Amino acid sequence: MSQKLTILIVEDEAALVTLLRYNLERDGYRVVEARDGEEALIVADEETPDLILLDWALPNLSGIEVCRRLRARSETRNTPIIMLTARGEETDRIRGLDTGADDYVVKPFSMTEMLARLRAVLRRIRPALADETLIFGDIAIDRAAHRVKRSGRDVHLGPTEYRLLDHLIQHPGRVFSREQLLDAVWGSDVYVEARTVDVHIGRLRKALIANGERDPIRTVRSAGYSLDEHLKAAG
Ligand code: CA
Repeated sequence: MSQKLTILIVEDEAALVTLLRYNLERDGYRVVEARDGEEALIVADEETPDLILLDWALPNLSGIEVCRRLRARSETRNTPIIMLTARGEETDRIRGLDTGADDYVVKPFSMTEMLARLRAVLRRIRPALADETLIFGDIAIDRAAHRVKRSGRDVHLGPTEYRLLDHLIQHPGRVFSREQLLDAVWGSDVYVEARTVDVHIGRLRKALIANGERDPIRTVRSAGYSLDEHLKAAG
């Protein structure tokens, strides 16, 4: 199994948050939440969600302004956003899509519809999530068999190195801090030292370049790690 996808719910209506959280968790997603626009921007930075459910009418900062700011940041520029709007806000909906939302759902909505729309957006925006094989340059992950190949040769990885590579390959070019990688790969409820990430990145790197290939992992000093996008272009 790959790790859970993280959904950020930005909504000030507590009852709706509870209902969404219950249904999303039952479907296997990890859920984080924010109650207003300011908090949404902070949580989006800390948690790097895979998708954001963003309420239109929020205290302090409107949903549309939050959407605009998320799109202006490199970390969240490509994160799928579904706006939650009230019935009859047609012009608002259009503005929402103009600002960079990927879809919108009109309240009140059925949970079945919401979950279907969410899966559709994830498939459309990040087809890699639905694929059994992930390709990055000359690296291929067969997720069904848990096998990794580089230029056709088998790369033998431990389970942690495998999950690290799987996570990085889903977000090419994005820089992850050690803490973010710990949360994504080990889980936020496990206590592991940040340095452990360096050890496993070291092993992953060693396995990937065993035949003298180019190092696909970029170390960003004092920030973390990312997959080198140049490799994708070259492969
Ligand atoms: Ca609201």
